[in-house]
Amino acid sequence: MAREPVKTVVRRAWTRRDALKVAPVVAASVGVAAVALNRNRAPVVEQRKGTCRFCLMHCGVVATLHDGRIEKVEGDLQSKTRGFICEHGFALRELVHSGERLKHPLVRRGDTFHEVGWDEALREIGTRLAALKATHGAQTLALQTGWPMVRHPLVGFLHRFARAFGTPHVATVASLCESTVRMGQGLTVGTKYAADVRGLKTLVVWGGNPGVTSPPMLHLIADKARTGNLVVVDPVKTHLARSASLHLSIRPGTDGALALGLIRLLDERALVDRAVLEAQSRGLAELLALCAPYTPERVAELTSVPAESVRRLAGLLAERPVAIWQGLGVEHHENGVQTTRAISALEVVCGRFDGSHEPKSELTRATSAQGVLPSLPRMHTPTPAPPEGTVTPLGGDRFPLYEAWNREAQAGVFPQAIEQGSLRALVLWASNPLVTSPDTVRLEQAFGKLDLLVVVDPFLTASARVADVVLPAGTFAESADDEVEPLVAPQGEARTDWAILRGLAVACGVGSFFPWDSLQQALAAPQTEWLTAARVQPTFEGLTETPRFGTVTGKVEFASTLLERAGHDALPVWKPPTSAPSPDFPLWLVSGPRPRSRINSQFSQSPTVMSRMREPEALVHPTVAAKVGVTDGALVDVVSAVGRISLRARVTDDVHPECVVVPSGWESANCNRLIEASRVDPVSGFPAFRSGTCRLEPHRAVSGP
Ligand code: SF4
Repeated sequence: MAREPVKTVVRRAWTRRDALKVAPVVAASVGVAAVALNRNRAPVVEQRKGTCRFCLMHCGVVATLHDGRIEKVEGDLQSKTRGFICEHGFALRELVHSGERLKHPLVRRGDTFHEVGWDEALREIGTRLAALKATHGAQTLALQTGWPMVRHPLVGFLHRFARAFGTPHVATVASLCESTVRMGQGLTVGTKYAADVRGLKTLVVWGGNPGVTSPPMLHLIADKARTGNLVVVDPVKTHLARSASLHLSIRPGTDGALALGLIRLLDERALVDRAVLEAQSRGLAELLALCAPYTPERVAELTSVPAESVRRLAGLLAERPVAIWQGLGVEHHENGVQTTRAISALEVVCGRFDGSHEPKSELTRATSAQGVLPSLPRMHTPTPAPPEGTVTPLGGDRFPLYEAWNREAQAGVFPQAIEQGSLRALVLWASNPLVTSPDTVRLEQAFGKLDLLVVVDPFLTASARVADVVLPAGTFAESADDEVEPLVAPQGEARTDWAILRGLAVACGVGSFFPWDSLQQALAAPQTEWLTAARVQPTFEGLTETPRFGTVTGKVEFASTLLERAGHDALPVWKPPTSAPSPDFPLWLVSGPRPRSRINSQFSQSPTVMSRMREPEALVHPTVAAKVGVTDGALVDVVSAVGRISLRARVTDDVHPECVVVPSGWESANCNRLIEASRVDPVSGFPAFRSGTCRLEPHRAVSGP
């Protein structure tokens, strides 16, 4: 049974202890106020620099503070993003000072949350975890972090806490986002690489919308439309696609077939430097044989991209240097890893790493600096490190390469582990899986079976509302990280992530592993290499020198040694999605493109951001709308095999005629209720967010539960 979301919060009564605690502060404040009144003082105005961490662009910001309150946020001209910030960065003020911020810890009693002090909240967690550990073992606990923690140094300390407690089950947003591309590129050329757009003649943006997801890059990318060839491959004609030299509106899940067909065409036109690639790669002949059946006509049949457009793109790829920007749209399929590998192989064939332009040197630096498979993270932690233990993180048995690449659990298997009773306690840190993870209907049911659910977040999210304990966290603006000092103090009784983690460690009896007062102190302590990539062995087999490519053989691996050993296809074989449109579900479901008003489930508390898009919209092609009897702006139901949501239809021929596109991040029309969690990539465990199936119906009110 799903847990009932808590609707009532019982405010905390003031105790004598509270009064004693704040007495000095009150006295000081009264004193300060009196002095200020006497002097008719002006507010203290200051400027502080920081970094926006709402997304991975990490733009530099300058905040203007009035008496410790953010009044204005601007871009920092001296930062690497040179003064740019987007509407989300501007909204930082609204989120930090939002009236919806959690200011006190909450503990659930029945169907009510009670505000409690930190000591009581942490004691509750510590006591309950100790009991669960004693009965079911330490590995009954898992931790899961969300997007705001991406590349945040605290994540390493969450691993430290977990291992000290005795569990290896830590998952991050890598379970859903970006790491499939990272793995596909790494398995092919030995490292993740970025598309450095400067100096390119041809840029292909494939399954991405950088105008929304990477705004500071947009002007560089859009510039290609003026100075070179810009190609966009996407089932939606995005804003960027309108300015492109060529837009290919592709059928979901068929990107790999297009990439193989393009390799075939380039080879046919003698644009593949076979002699050089023979020496530098593994499996070139097998790759070309794999591509042979993918004629432009066959590709057109599979992808719905006209054969003439396929040929035209092959012609543009002959104009070099070429790079391909792979977005999340290529990885959220059942064939995601092999799709990203096919696209990487295409880039290699296009001379991406032939030394003629900048990215080659990036790759060389990465490989030579690390001397091992560079895509594998090498984690460090202060000495002494807690024991790594011998238990494989959840999902590691089913997705061993994912576990090796990311050194963590695959969160996609958590619902099953909860259902089977092996996972009984979960800590969600800046993570809201009831909005962001697939098949949220099943996930809600699974959460109902947990003995303890703890949520650490600045807001009472959908996931927090079903928790047993909610701990109020400061936003990144209230915490120092490895680079910057906080902009403001934590709001109310909210605490920094570090303070919460340390408190949790003490409450769980592992405080000796957290002797530092701050994250900075912990990062400055002597470090030791930890959580080594022991499960992918060995690297650079038989080679005495660090090779140019960080794969096992030191060559470009069109045929991947590691995939072969793990029992997968060594070549980037294209396989169609296992569930194609059928009479019951005749349309492709593309879920998850980010609307301007959201970064995952964040920003519903910002009036300014929300004013840009007050409601989620499903993109529907006019032919589909006419067939179903839906008009522009009408409420429609999108129905899949596992769920149903209602939202407004936007009828537009910008969308592929076989697709319905629904945005991510909305609790009111949660696209993840439609996603079948069983359909995953066999290498990474990524769900098929972008190639599900569905039907469209005029909206009908659903009564009952
Ligand atoms: S692009 Fe926007 S959200 Fe991302 S870091 Fe920059 S200002 Fe923040």
